[in-house]
Amino acid sequence: MANENTPTYGNFINGEWSTPQNGTQTSINPANRQEIVGLIPNSSKEDLDAAVAAAKSAQRAWRKLAGSQRGALLFKAADILESRTDEIGETMTREMGKTLPEAKGETARGVAILRYYAGEGMRKVGDVIPATDAEAFMYTTRSPLGTVGVISPWNFPVAIPIWKMAPALIYGNTVVWKPATETSVTAAKIAQCFHDAGFPPGVLNMVVGSGSVIGQGIAEHPDINGITFTGSNGVGKQVGQAALARGAKYQLEMGGKNPIIIAEDANLELAVDATISGGLKSTGQKCTATSRVIVVKGIYEAFKTRLLEKVAELKVGDGLAADTWLGPCANEKQMETVLSYIQKGVDEGAVLLHGGERLEQGELSNGFYVTPAIFDGVTSRMSIAQEEIFGPVLALIEAQDIDEAIELANDTDYGLSASIYTQNIGNVLAFVQDMDAGLVRVNAETAGVELQAPFGGMKQSSSHSREQGQAAIEFYTSIKTVFIKP
Ligand code: NAP
Ligand code: MG
Repeated sequence: MANENTPTYGNFINGEWSTPQNGTQTSINPANRQEIVGLIPNSSKEDLDAAVAAAKSAQRAWRKLAGSQRGALLFKAADILESRTDEIGETMTREMGKTLPEAKGETARGVAILRYYAGEGMRKVGDVIPATDAEAFMYTTRSPLGTVGVISPWNFPVAIPIWKMAPALIYGNTVVWKPATETSVTAAKIAQCFHDAGFPPGVLNMVVGSGSVIGQGIAEHPDINGITFTGSNGVGKQVGQAALARGAKYQLEMGGKNPIIIAEDANLELAVDATISGGLKSTGQKCTATSRVIVVKGIYEAFKTRLLEKVAELKVGDGLAADTWLGPCANEKQMETVLSYIQKGVDEGAVLLHGGERLEQGELSNGFYVTPAIFDGVTSRMSIAQEEIFGPVLALIEAQDIDEAIELANDTDYGLSASIYTQNIGNVLAFVQDMDAGLVRVNAETAGVELQAPFGGMKQSSSHSREQGQAAIEFYTSIKTVFIKP
C-alpha cells in the first residue's frame, strides 16, 4: 500500500515538475508486488497539450544554438547521469526486475550514448555538390523536424529513450517523451538529469500516462512533427498509421524472433554460453533476445546436454540480490503471457525438457518469477517458433545441414537480429549473405548492440529505418539542398 512516505513523481513540462489533474497510479516492484516504487501520474490529453505547446515554443531558440552549445548540455547530462548510476540502476531493478549489474551497465551505456551524440554537434552535416552552373555554389545541409514525440518501452528504460532523445536534441529538435508506464520512476530520474544539466525550459518534456491516451495522443498530435517508437508490433503499426494519416515522419522499432544457428563445427562451450546469455539475460525481455536455437544434426545431442547442465545452474531471484542471475518477469501480464506460451508449446507437441514453471515458494511468492524453459522437438510452424514471447524460453529446432538451418532461421515474419556459431568460412559467408536480419553476428550472441553502429530490423521488426550511430541523423533531420548564385 502507498503511504505518506511513498515518493510521488510528476510530469516534466516546460522546465518544471507538475502534478496532473487526473491523479496518480502506482509503479510496483515485480520481485515483490507489495512494494510500491512510486506514485506516478495518470495524465490526460490536456497535460500532453501543455507539453507539446512548451516544446513548440522552445523550438526556435533551440535550433538556433550552435551544435557545440547543444552538445555541451548533453555532455553535462552525461556527467550527471554517470554520478547517479547506482541510484538509477537500483531504481530500474526495483521497477522492472532486471539484475543490478545489468541495470547499472545499461545506465553506463546511457552515459556513453549521451557523450557520443554530444560530439555529433561538431560533426559534418552535409556535402558540397558541383552545380552545372559554374558560378553557383550547391550544397546540402540539414534541418531539424521540429518537435519529436518519443514513445519508449520498459525493457531498456534508460538506454532506449536516451538513444532517441540524444540525437533528437543534438540535431535541434525539441522533445515530448512518453515513457512506458511500467518504468516511469526511472524515467523521472532521467528527466531530472536533463533538468539539472540546464536544458532550457520546454526543450525536453516528459508526460506519464497510458499508452492509449498519451501514446496515441502523441501519434495524432498536429504539432508533433516526428514520432519515434519502440515497442510491440501491434502498437507500432497503430502509431505508424496515425502518423501517416497526418503526414508526420515516423520510425518504428518492434519485435524479434531471433535465431542462433549452431553449426557442427561450433565451439560447443562458447555456443552454449552465447545461447544462455543471449536468450535468458534480462529474463529474455530484450528485443534482440535469442528465442530459436537452430542446431545442426551432428552436434544436436551434445549441445542439448551441455545447455541443460548449464541452465540448471542459473539462480532465479530478486535482481537486487548479489547471487541472482535471472530476475522476475517485468510485470504480471508479462508473466501470464510467458506461462501461456509455455502451455501452448506443450499443447502443440513440443517437449518441455526443463523449467517453465512459476516459482512461488516463500519470498518468491510475491514476485513474477518463471524458471527458464527449454523446449526440445520444436518445429517451425509451432507458435513458440513463430511468435515473440519476450520471456525466458528457448526453442530447440534440429536442422539437417547448414542450408536448412539458414532456411529455418529465415522462416519468420521478423528480422531483427541473428547469430551463428561456426569456424567454417563458407558457413559464415552463406549466413551473412542469406540471413534477412538487420543485425547479423558471427560467434557472438544475438543480443549485443553497439551504440556507434546502425541498429534496426528487417521485415516486420521495424519500419525499415535505423537508429543509433550516425544513422540516427536520417530520422531526426530533413535534408535541405541549397543552390546559391552570386
Ligand atoms: P508496448 O506495449 O508496445 O509499449 C511500448 C510503448 O508504447 C509504451 O510506452 C506504451 O505505453 C506505449 N503504448 C501502448 N499503447 C499505445 C497506443 N495505443 N498508442 C501509442 N503508444 C502506446 O511494448 P512493451 O510491452 O512496453 O515492450 C515490449 C516490446 O517492445 C516487445 O515487442 C519488444 O520486442 C519491443 N522492443 C523492441 C526493441 C527494438 O529496438 N526493436 C527494443 C526493445 C523492445 P504504456 O507503457 O503506458 O502501455
Ligand atoms: Mg514495475
